[in-house]
Amino acid sequence: MATHHTKMLIIGSGPAGYSAAIYAARAMMEPIVVQGLQPGGQLTITTEVENYPGFRDVIQGPWLMEEMKAQAEHVGTRMMWDTIVSVDLENGPPFRAIGDSGDEYIGETLVIATGAQAKWLGAPGEQELGGKGVSACATCDGFFYRGKKVAVIGGGNTAVEEALYLTNHSDDVTLIHRRDELRAEKILQNRLFKSEKTNVLWNKTVKSFEAGEDGTLDHLVLEDTVTGETSTLEVDGAFVAIGHAPATELFKGKLAMDDAGYLDVEPGTPKTAIPGVFAAGDVADHTYRQAVTAAGMGCMAALDGEKFLAAREDTMEEAPQETAEAAE
Ligand code: NDP
Repeated sequence: MATHHTKMLIIGSGPAGYSAAIYAARAMMEPIVVQGLQPGGQLTITTEVENYPGFRDVIQGPWLMEEMKAQAEHVGTRMMWDTIVSVDLENGPPFRAIGDSGDEYIGETLVIATGAQAKWLGAPGEQELGGKGVSACATCDGFFYRGKKVAVIGGGNTAVEEALYLTNHSDDVTLIHRRDELRAEKILQNRLFKSEKTNVLWNKTVKSFEAGEDGTLDHLVLEDTVTGETSTLEVDGAFVAIGHAPATELFKGKLAMDDAGYLDVEPGTPKTAIPGVFAAGDVADHTYRQAVTAAGMGCMAALDGEKFLAAREDTMEEAPQETAEAAE
């Protein structure tokens, strides 16, 4: 078990974490990124990315994250294969965090970039049939449903993208949405409506995921949100894509957060209420939740962290003089 010291400890390895690392490393802060359970974050489970600036052609999410990571390492970031299991923010700076490995991380500043995770419906059968027909990642599991009937639940960008992705494998993709209007961007909606492989079931929620005799998903029980009528839909695979919840469990009772669990920051900045602790990316952003905005917040956190350290060093240098003056 080792102890690692750094001027900037970054928890999380999505666009926010890696961008903070790139800026901090270039400011000679020798940052440490503790990557967590899903190195690279949510983009590693998406397919095509066509809205991250700088690439005229469509790029792949996992590739983009590999590049960000390589860039962060290239400029001097230390990457840790570890997951933070507890943090001490009260007695800092420096702030202390303990990893799953037992290692201790001590940061003069801390950037929380733990992102968000897929939400589940909480309907009967959903968890039991996980990996047996129910999934939250079409890119990861879509291949297993080649030529089969699949459904996607949700009406946002993720749901529509997942449905479109699944048309690579299946000719029968049903999007199930609880309202009569999608939240997804118009360009994605147009692609969905144009595809001959997709159809939409409006005003429906999934009441339960039901298994067949072989123990895998057989059908969904649906309820109409307008009439209350129930119906069934036979499917081999169901992909839940109803948004994300921020990964803030570690910080409960230590940092202020909103009702949905997103960390509170000073508006327009990544500053939390604890000086020297910053939050960047999806973990503190209920509104935009884009890779590019997360990267921007990561950059802001590193710049603010650098300023925080410089101001602290100035105060420490001035302190003895002040004491001497006070004594006179
Ligand atoms: P969103 O929060 O945007 O959408 C969630 C969807 O799931 C909504 O349609 C919502 O319905 C529905 N939903 C939520 N809870 C339930 C429930 N309990 N039962 C049934 N339906 C439910 O999440 P996304 O993951 O789609 O997107 C998150 C963010 O990431 C967004 O800002 C999005 O723009 C962005 N994103 C961007 C992409 C891109 O630009 N390429 C790709 C993927 C995501 P309702 O509409 O009724 O609220």
